[in-house]
Amino acid sequence: MASKDILVVSLNPEEGKLFLKEVCEMPVLAESGFAEVHGSEVDLQLSNGEDVGEIVEGFGGAIIMVHFMDLITVEKLRGIYKVFERKPDFDTLIAVYKPMGQNIFKVSCLECGQKMWIPDNRQGATGHCPKCKQAFELTRREDHVRMVLGLVEGIPVVQVAEEDGSSFKSALETLLGKASNEKDAPDSGGRTKLRIKKK
Ligand SMILES: [Zn+2]
Repeated sequence: MASKDILVVSLNPEEGKLFLKEVCEMPVLAESGFAEVHGSEVDLQLSNGEDVGEIVEGFGGAIIMVHFMDLITVEKLRGIYKVFERKPDFDTLIAVYKPMGQNIFKVSCLECGQKMWIPDNRQGATGHCPKCKQAFELTRREDHVRMVLGLVEGIPVVQVAEEDGSSFKSALETLLGKASNEKDAPDSGGRTKLRIKKK
């Protein structure tokens, strides 16, 4: 990527700050910091998503933190993703945030918008909307996010878990590894495969 400056977009500022706290050597300010990844310095800046259209020019990539997936949130996240999707030579990664001990995630029925909580242990099972009775498969968080945001192929979706600090660093490495795989990668062996980190 052209620049190593990375935008960390989180609709919830506290979750964004947590990301910076986990990956940065020493957060200089609450809204920005720098991290060292495979020997190179990466500057990170937080955004709540409202200003991405104006500030995106200064960045080479972005991490969009995703938590709830109700219709209003999805709408906002799609708008943010579209800004990045249009930008050439720009790398985007989606980080699905899982708070400590939260083993359910919130989605909206794609037919009627009814809000639902899907327990992690039901992922892959078949269920139906309590309101409109539409049947659907209860997908994994990552797959659900990929589908509802309409991500193009190649956009990595990883999980970051509050109880696993290393998952944040791993997300950042995945984004940067993707960037260096596309261009002439350094021979430092610092490549990161695109894969979901499982616990
Ligand atoms: Zn429904």
